[in-house]
Amino acid sequence: MPDTAPTIMWFRDDLRLGDNPALCDAVSRGRVVCLYVHDPAFPLGGAEKWWLHGALSALDHDLRAQGGRLCIMAGDTHESVLWLAARTGAGAVVWNRRYGPRARQVDTDVKAALKARGVDAHSHPGNMLHEPWQVRTKQGTPFRVFTPWWRAVQAKGPPLPPLPAPDQPAFAVVPPEIGDRLVRPADLALLPVRPDWAQGLRAQWQPGEAAAHARLDAFVAERVHGYATQRELPAQPATSGLSPYLRFGHVSPRQVWHAVETLGPGDQDSACFLSEVGWRDFAHATLFDFPGMGTGNLRPEYDNMPWRHDPVALRAWQKGKTGYPIIDAGMRELWHTGWMHNRVRMVVASFLTKHLLLDWRVGEAWFADTLVDADAASNPFNWQWVAGCGLDAAPYFRVFNPVAQGEKFDPAGDYVRKWVPEIAHLPNKYIHAPWKAGPSAPGGYPAPIVDLAGGRARALAAWKAL
Ligand SMILES: Cc1cc2nc3c(=O)[nH]c(=O)nc-3n(C[C@H](O)[C@H](O)[C@H](O)COP(=O)(O)OP(=O)(O)OC[C@H]3O[C@@H](n4cnc5c(N)ncnc54)[C@H](O)[C@@H]3O)c2cc1C
Repeated sequence: MPDTAPTIMWFRDDLRLGDNPALCDAVSRGRVVCLYVHDPAFPLGGAEKWWLHGALSALDHDLRAQGGRLCIMAGDTHESVLWLAARTGAGAVVWNRRYGPRARQVDTDVKAALKARGVDAHSHPGNMLHEPWQVRTKQGTPFRVFTPWWRAVQAKGPPLPPLPAPDQPAFAVVPPEIGDRLVRPADLALLPVRPDWAQGLRAQWQPGEAAAHARLDAFVAERVHGYATQRELPAQPATSGLSPYLRFGHVSPRQVWHAVETLGPGDQDSACFLSEVGWRDFAHATLFDFPGMGTGNLRPEYDNMPWRHDPVALRAWQKGKTGYPIIDAGMRELWHTGWMHNRVRMVVASFLTKHLLLDWRVGEAWFADTLVDADAASNPFNWQWVAGCGLDAAPYFRVFNPVAQGEKFDPAGDYVRKWVPEIAHLPNKYIHAPWKAGPSAPGGYPAPIVDLAGGRARALAAWKAL
């Protein structure tokens, strides 16, 4: 017999009904109250806020279609969860796990407080292929390098198959006196006003579970074939564009895995794609095992790196006005759409931390504010990887030359022409080095803000002196 006391399903980074172990648990216990807490102590970037507004609206819509609703509360997480549990007379609160240090601390404290009040609390594995502690070296220690970690993941066989969305869930009626503390997405002031800078985001993205599956289905049907060879070309729509959907949990990595794996073992494209999804797990596992990753160098010797303070150069980078077309195209794509192609993310991050010798944390902070997929694990993990201070990092002396990278990965200049229209008229031979065009060099497009050879030499000298 199901419990008569309702169970609270506490949604966080898992805003979906399908393959949601905590939700399945809640439904199996009886009537369900669905909760999301918006806590200012967990600040979000501007683009993430824009996404969250749409994500909460979509989840509420999907729950209402089943006869339920999403109860949204604003305020301190601990207090909100305990308050709602007390007011609804909940017998249990369930959730899917998070892996960042602060989130884990809050979850541990909430669990203890609920149990002390006689309320059952249960956490589930819902957001990774495998839990971080399930993939260990033979000595039982965390992996520090991706390739052996990935081999160990593959040796475990496929992740568990995804769970179907609960069939005809029963929802508890929310008492009216609780309604006063509930808010609507619009009350959270997540959308930008004056100025409304989200036009480009609206044109490109539709938050929610239905849109996530439409994108996954289209990727599997049309684009996964060719992924291995095309994924490095920013002008091609060759990658999945699933990152914000995975970030907010509209789709689970297990759903992605099983949708792609059906293409058959040994398929080079799907194997390449799945290893990219693996990097996401590896980033979260690294954050779990090295909780200081978000702010501190994983290699402490980098604590002595003589990063420069140069607000003018930083502003030029942020605004896409460095005078290097591939950098400016990437930074403008980011500003306009809330997303940037992975290859270009690596090139702009290398330029910031090496040619400009600016601290990776200022770049990470800009990405955190402007990416719709900004993620507390993947973002610092990748910045540290590019900057050389990560565990399994690219060596610091590998300095991407933005001209050579542009010529290699955007050979016809299509990506640059799309995002840097003021130089679109230049022939291909100048499109990645417009200053060489002489009299036909475009007025208004900035001259390079740093000399490439000089910037590279300065960076390498700083690194050698460490
Ligand atoms: C400096 C820098 C910062 C980054 N910050 C983020 C971030 O905040 N959030 C984020 O999701 N990704 C981040 N990435 C990783 C990567 O650029 C994006 O995941 C990818 O570009 C998203 O596009 P996609 O969904 O089309 O990727 P696809 O190529 O289709 O890959 C499928 C999925 O695999 C995962 N993935 C792919 N590459 C990586 C990677 N290197 N690390 C972790 N996961 C990966 C993503 O979830 C992605 O959606 C960053 C990369 C760099 C170099």
